[in-house]
Amino acid sequence: MKTIAAVLYEMGQSAPYATTRPLVIEELELPAPGPGEVLVEIAAAGLCHSDLSVVDGSRPRPLPIVLGHEASGIVRETGAGVRGFAPDDHVIFSFIPTCGRCRYCAAGRPALCENGVRANLAGTLLNGARRFTNPRGLPVHHHCGIAAFSRYTIAVTESLVKIDLRLPLATAALFGCAVVTGAGAVFNTAAVRPGESVAVFGLGGVGLSAVMAARTAEAGCVIAVDVLETKLALARELGATHTVNAATVDPVAVVRELSGGGVDHAIEATGNERGMAQAFHVTRPGGNTVAISLPDSRRLFSVPAVTLSAEERVVRGSYMGSCVPRRDIPRFIELHQSGRLPVDRLITRTLRLEQINEGFDALARGEAVRQLIQFA
Ligand SMILES: [Zn+2]
Ligand SMILES: [Zn+2]
Repeated sequence: MKTIAAVLYEMGQSAPYATTRPLVIEELELPAPGPGEVLVEIAAAGLCHSDLSVVDGSRPRPLPIVLGHEASGIVRETGAGVRGFAPDDHVIFSFIPTCGRCRYCAAGRPALCENGVRANLAGTLLNGARRFTNPRGLPVHHHCGIAAFSRYTIAVTESLVKIDLRLPLATAALFGCAVVTGAGAVFNTAAVRPGESVAVFGLGGVGLSAVMAARTAEAGCVIAVDVLETKLALARELGATHTVNAATVDPVAVVRELSGGGVDHAIEATGNERGMAQAFHVTRPGGNTVAISLPDSRRLFSVPAVTLSAEERVVRGSYMGSCVPRRDIPRFIELHQSGRLPVDRLITRTLRLEQINEGFDALARGEAVRQLIQFA
């Protein structure tokens, strides 16, 4: 069958992307789903910084590739041996496929799944396959085993989570990356307890999800830090008790003052090591810094060494919110449906697939929280 997709052929092209158009809209061929595979019609797909990092070359992936790793869709066909999924099921995707067999899956840490990470780096499905073929007959890679910037995609069942049919599909898409990453960092990695203080640095979709989750976890004070007033205003609506504009004041000094000498948890979602350092420096002795963004792999992060021992400060990484997708995504959806994670507020605007290059310009300029490509 044919699908229409946005294909990246060359990384590192200069912005504005509306002019250079690194994402090429073209028709690709897809076969019927193979054993263990599912054909999904994508409903909505979010534009995330980790897609932009492949476009700008800071997180290289094999080319050509169909990007897109935060999406919802409807199952249209299942391959041989597929259990637990049937046509018309609504699904979202886990951006690490979880094999269920490796040492990390066995330890309840599927975000580190060895086989999933290996497949993602190779740009294939978990079973090693590439299913898209371009008009010149070349195979095209799958981003995170998902490849959501395509009207139809093929994924293995280990990449899929079935969701409640009542959840609007546009909202559902956000649970695949922004919500698992941000809310998971608060509930799983940091394990914020009622009354504790939380600072969140960087208010994209991930950071704002962390703000909402901190409020839901009954944190005492929730301090949101960014350089854009529009995002700070949204953070206040979503539960931040204080906001700090890092473009106009020294955020470290102000957050430390607001929290009476430092916070219990600093969640970093800035995408750069400077933001990580600021987050570390606002924690109190015994405090916890949770790094969730993906800076350029060549950048280093340093802290005063003695603070780890003499002050028992902790720096923790959090990938995919330390989530177990089939355990955590349904419970985050429950929180949303009971009004406690209003993640639909993160949607800035919806785009057609043909507007995807313009969408990445808006994301790079920080103008948008979450933009969704809508296919239907
Ligand atoms: Zn993402
Ligand atoms: Zn695994």
